[in-house]
Amino acid sequence: MSQNIGIFDDIIDFIRRIHHKPEGFIPLHEPRFIGNERVYVADAIDSTFVSSIGEYVDRFEEKVCRVTGAAYAIATVNGTSALHAALVTAGVKKDDEVITQPLTFVATANAITYGGALPVFVDVDKDTLSLSPSKLADFLKKNSKLGSDGYAYNKLTGHRLKACVPVYTFGFPGRIEDIRDICSVYNITLIEDAAESLGSTCSGRHTGTFGLAGIFSFNGNKTITAGGGGAIITDDADFAKKARHLATTGKVPHKWEYVHDVVAYNYRMPNLNAALVLAQIEKLDEFIKDKRAMASEYSKFFEKTPFKFIKEQNNTKANYWLNAILFNNREERDAFLTFSNEHQVMTRPAWQLMHRLEMFNDCCYNNLENAEWLVDRLVNIPSSVRVTL
Ligand SMILES: *Cc1c(COP(=O)(O)O)cnc(C)c1O
Repeated sequence: MSQNIGIFDDIIDFIRRIHHKPEGFIPLHEPRFIGNERVYVADAIDSTFVSSIGEYVDRFEEKVCRVTGAAYAIATVNGTSALHAALVTAGVKKDDEVITQPLTFVATANAITYGGALPVFVDVDKDTLSLSPSKLADFLKKNSKLGSDGYAYNKLTGHRLKACVPVYTFGFPGRIEDIRDICSVYNITLIEDAAESLGSTCSGRHTGTFGLAGIFSFNGNKTITAGGGGAIITDDADFAKKARHLATTGKVPHKWEYVHDVVAYNYRMPNLNAALVLAQIEKLDEFIKDKRAMASEYSKFFEKTPFKFIKEQNNTKANYWLNAILFNNREERDAFLTFSNEHQVMTRPAWQLMHRLEMFNDCCYNNLENAEWLVDRLVNIPSSVRVTL
């Protein structure tokens, strides 16, 4: 491994150079507040509308529609609640099975289980890091049967295969069109976990708009932030109405009466957070321009190393939320993680795979060789938007 130390040094030097930080700590991803954040947040405070009703929530939702091309957007307290509310709205119930990928942030699997549904883990592709359509087709062919109601059921468990939640890992658009086609053959509802992929497109279409609904996260470490926040997008008017209702404590509009017609959630984004994230989304194009420029600099650099830089696929445009490189084996990955973090350059491995976590390890899954291959090798490197915009 010692022969790599020279290369590791070069990588650290390069990261410091492109982030204009010759010394000191470089985080993996930090937010930038270089627009109207202070003005909008102060205005929200002055208006006294700091909670879940207010003009910034409406303005932000309109802006999310404009950016994504979706007909409807519902702002929520975070991405996890957005996914939970979207699944409930789609009719996912206790003991339904929901297909997702093992390589994701734990929130995806958590949100699936909140209402008693069961995650089923299907492998990712090595090049997109996202759900593999060929593995999905294979899984369904071998493990599902068509019920007399026209829906797909898991042969082994007898449970309905109700929904599929692919994830745009680190912002990379996967093979979503193929996934959509497979889901439609099997009558499986497609809900996209686009938490990481605001600004990423596939065939010119925004991620999150291929299925019945998509969700975003505006957590502090995402491309833009509300402090905490999320959104559901959809083109379906009934779905939008139902999701909004469920996220707003199921309150039936009335001038003064408190009428609630369903057990629901307090999941709406406060106006204060909407003020912050509205200022952020106004900068989205600039942020992504810089992130893509950074990715292309990283890409050129890593061509001259024995390590592979993950790139967007043809016909897609990635936001490069978190840049990722692949080492040749786990030992090399661990050596780089140790070296870079000791040198105050923050790097992180991929998340532990979902099926290996205690609470999900008795879930249904089959061969996850690609995800297992990837986690042994993958490292995320600093990807914050540069301040010099
Ligand atoms: C961030 C994230 C979420 C959850 O979003 P929060 O706003 O943190 O609740 C869900 N899925 C993925 C893939 C994420 O990266």
